[in-house]
Amino acid sequence: MHEALEKLYTDLKFQKLMKLNDVLDFYNDLWQKNWNDAIVIVKKGYDKENYRKMGEKFLTDYYNHYKPFDKGKVLGLETTEFIDLDDKYKFHVRIDRLNEADDGVYEIHDYKTGGYLPEQARLDEDRQLALYSLWVLKTFGNVKKVKLIWHYLAFDKELVSERTQDQLMKLRRETIKAINKIESAKDFPSVVTKLCDWCQFRPICPHFKHLYKIETLEPKEYLEDSGVKLVNEYAELQEKIKGLSEELEKVRQTLIDFAKKEDVDVVFGSDIKASVNSYESFKFPPKNERTELNEMIKKLGLWNDLAMVDTYELAKKIKNKELHEDFIRLLDKFIKKEKTDIVRLSKNNNNNNY
Ligand code: SF4
Repeated sequence: MHEALEKLYTDLKFQKLMKLNDVLDFYNDLWQKNWNDAIVIVKKGYDKENYRKMGEKFLTDYYNHYKPFDKGKVLGLETTEFIDLDDKYKFHVRIDRLNEADDGVYEIHDYKTGGYLPEQARLDEDRQLALYSLWVLKTFGNVKKVKLIWHYLAFDKELVSERTQDQLMKLRRETIKAINKIESAKDFPSVVTKLCDWCQFRPICPHFKHLYKIETLEPKEYLEDSGVKLVNEYAELQEKIKGLSEELEKVRQTLIDFAKKEDVDVVFGSDIKASVNSYESFKFPPKNERTELNEMIKKLGLWNDLAMVDTYELAKKIKNKELHEDFIRLLDKFIKKEKTDIVRLSKNNNNNNY
């Protein structure tokens, strides 16, 4: 799509207006040349032909909407510029089409082929085109306004946003901050989603690396792999523990029943004895139904003695960034970060049946 529209506007620079059929031929030619079997259609029930025709429809609607393409001057197509964010970082400025509409009114056009229309609020927060506008402001002397324009081709719709100078300065600062955060990161935990099925990093990804190592092994080597052996052993022991816990609970309950029936509070075994006692415990309303109880505790002046910070909730809020970053900074000296290793067993859907 991008290449077909680039060709259309490139020809216009040479005072050549492509006919719609020529644009579609150019697009179909590119489609034939670039299609390969590694391309996967994720959406069930649709095939290559559906997508090719969608492309034709998008281009046809666009062509009919904007022909004869004589609004403003095209200053750049698929630009390959850079803007300095600071002394260290540059941002690649790849504008699909840069236009000057009126004297000093610049337009950054971006083509989108997705099948959804974003909310205006999302576009007003979009970083990419806003950062491009920093480059426009720096490069051209007469800039009065920069308009950010997204063409949602599936809907034949333009969505527009603008930024103030203050917003751009803030965006520049926040982008540098985000880069610093990424560069100082030590941990790169795997984030497993449906998209992993098409990820090229699977052989080196911590989530799939072991699977890749063992799936090429012969059955004997496979069963002797230390990882395979450990997981199998761990799972067997877990099963045994589960069975034993159920058995233990049954015997415990029978022992209690026995003590009650015999009216004793100690039951003797060969060289061991079991004390069976009852004690009374207090149950209070659950956490989300304690308003009245809390009010009463406060009224009785006991709140300071009894109330405690819910550190579990606090940790959750910090992890989910639900607290203001200034608050998190102030709380930081009270936090001791510890790593806990967890082993969780689940069904292996990549089973190779050994
Ligand atoms: S397979 Fe790819 S996408 Fe999935 S977690 Fe690993 S690196 Fe990330």
